[in-house]
Amino acid sequence: MPTDIQAPTGKKACVAVLATGGTIAGQAETGTQAGYASGRITVDAMIGSVPGLSDLADIQGEQIANVGSQDMTFALMIALADRINALLGDGAVEGVVVTHGTDTMEETAYFLNLTVKSRKPVVLTGAMRPSTAVSADGPLNLYNAVAVAADPRAAERGVLVVMNDRIHGAHSLTKNNTTSVETFLSPINGLIGTVIYGKTQYFRGPFRRHTHTSEFSVAGVDRLPRVDILYACAGMPADLIDCSVSRGARGIVVAGDGNGNMNAGAIAAASRAAGQGTVVVRSSRVQTGTVIRNVEIDDDSRRFIVSDELNPAKARILLMLALQQDRSLEELQEMFYTY
Ligand code: GLU
Repeated sequence: MPTDIQAPTGKKACVAVLATGGTIAGQAETGTQAGYASGRITVDAMIGSVPGLSDLADIQGEQIANVGSQDMTFALMIALADRINALLGDGAVEGVVVTHGTDTMEETAYFLNLTVKSRKPVVLTGAMRPSTAVSADGPLNLYNAVAVAADPRAAERGVLVVMNDRIHGAHSLTKNNTTSVETFLSPINGLIGTVIYGKTQYFRGPFRRHTHTSEFSVAGVDRLPRVDILYACAGMPADLIDCSVSRGARGIVVAGDGNGNMNAGAIAAASRAAGQGTVVVRSSRVQTGTVIRNVEIDDDSRRFIVSDELNPAKARILLMLALQQDRSLEELQEMFYTY
């Protein structure tokens, strides 16, 4: 076992809970209404509402933000990565839980998966029902997330997401349902494990590079290059691509149809963009499956990159981090196969 991970001692682990908002901290007037406001209750109230949490670990709560995750920014993600790196660099903290809205949870999880420099468990969790709802899912999700963060066997598995008894890897998971508590899936390569009332079981580790083996860092960084996502559809207006380039996008991720396709006009505009040095990544608007080079589009001659397993939102994050340095297209393509 690496030296920065503690072997089980019978002593309770110390777990930091960093709250950023979301529905888990949301409130409504009644327990049965659909409408509510995200990010209302504090981290201490959230921790206090979960019976038995202090039996799992010594908990220290910190309020990083209190926003619906549709308002998550890269400045906040960088602050979160910095804080997690500081906490885990301190020998006293064994694991971190981040509470977060589910809308952009997969983006923050993947960002942290590439920028946290630790083998220790980092676990995101949230809720689909606000704290005031009948059968609110937040308390048990938080309980399970703390159980995973306190578990030395969760170490070296990259950043994890615990929701609805499932343990997902940051690379694999995606939100799949607008309202159901069973919203997250890992459709391409499955779950990392399960956690049932705090009892963990692991099936696998992540297949890609992450955290302490990642080459990316946001230490001292305050902004990242602009990368836009453009959604392909029948009749997609190609000038959206020209517009992104003229607005200074260093990269464009096309949420392509099928295997990362787009219409002839969009291919021509994307080729123009690539010719001018904008990095063009073909991803897919389809929820599952990989995007493969040179199938219906000749990526080699057009100088396009494919996202492989990454959906558009995560492909954008990888490209933003990668474009912090000058890299060849070949190196960038390799990153999409590596991370
Ligand atoms: N928009 C909210 C958010 O992402 C709702 C999703 C949730 O937390 O479940 O914060």
